[in-house]
Amino acid sequence: MARQSDAPQEFEIAVASAIAAPEAFGASFDAMPSAEALELGIGLEGDPAIAFRRTLGMFATGVTVLTTRTGETVHGMTANAFMSVSLQPPLVLVSIDRRARMSNMLHEGTRLGVNVLEAAQKVLSDHFAGRPLEGGVEPRFELVHDTPLVEGALAHLVVRVVRSYWGGDHSLFLGQVEYAHYGEGEPLLFHGGRYERLVRDPRVFSMLPQELLEPILALGEEREYADGATIMRRGEPGSELMLVVEGTVQVERPGRSLTLGPGDLVGEIEVLDPVGARIADITAVGPVRGVVVTREKLIAALEADPRAAVGLVEVLAARFRETA
Ligand code: FAD
Repeated sequence: MARQSDAPQEFEIAVASAIAAPEAFGASFDAMPSAEALELGIGLEGDPAIAFRRTLGMFATGVTVLTTRTGETVHGMTANAFMSVSLQPPLVLVSIDRRARMSNMLHEGTRLGVNVLEAAQKVLSDHFAGRPLEGGVEPRFELVHDTPLVEGALAHLVVRVVRSYWGGDHSLFLGQVEYAHYGEGEPLLFHGGRYERLVRDPRVFSMLPQELLEPILALGEEREYADGATIMRRGEPGSELMLVVEGTVQVERPGRSLTLGPGDLVGEIEVLDPVGARIADITAVGPVRGVVVTREKLIAALEADPRAAVGLVEVLAARFRETA
């Protein structure tokens, strides 16, 4: 199989025209475009194949490890070319390099695990991309529907390959989803050829030293909520910060649910954002007593003691520096 010789290794690309139909595959999507047909926009120079790949790399994705089993042998590979196709019936699609070992292991009827990696699983992504860390990880699998799934992944799917398509240098596998599960956590992201992560830690005021936080809370007013009462509602403007003094609150947002208690703050980001809406529903679990600080009071407190404002800027700057 021909490869580009002067490109860096990560940009090696198989030449489509040299590839014949693989065995036991479905329809071809081969349009056979020639490399010269790809026009680069202003400012992009050099090898069109590399520029094309870099352009595709602007599409930010999560990272999955695909897993399958042949007899007693478990095989995994990292893939970000994964997409949902249909909710009813539940269908997903993966695109796999025809040179990858995985490509030869999948046929119509084969079961495939799709493991969505969590932010801390960068090492596993490298491992299953054939770049194992020296003395690195020993991946662990659990079996569901006879399919190996990577332990600790953020989400798991078991799919049965129902169609396969070939063309160019990748093959497409359409899978019917037989099992789905997700847990709590942040996803590992991939963008521009590097790993990224979401910065979603909602703690801002909680990170301030006590002597700077206390004068802010001292301007708040006490409120009581009955069991089941809505304290804050998703989509509404967020103009208040609340310290939980007594009781428990439940924070619910898509893909995430957590319980907070005395000493915890809620609405930390929204109170600093005059236009954004709340991203979570917050409900009282049993009777709750809290101290609520409005945005106006908060601004007054920051004007009274600029050290607190500087402290907040420092916390936010540290958040932006956080990358995988
Ligand atoms: P190999 O290269 O032989 O194996 C992959 C690695 O996994 C090896 O290090 C192997 O030791 C290890 N491994 C496999 N099974 C086990 C096991 N049971 N226990 C322990 N270790 C095991 N390629 C695509 O075709 N499509 C994509 O969408 C895609 N996306 C990618 C996204 C990212 C972020 C990265 C980093 C790579 C991506 N790749 C993609 C490249 C792909 O992951 C590599 O080319 C990979 O090496 C192909 O795997 P393979 O099936 O050829 O198996």
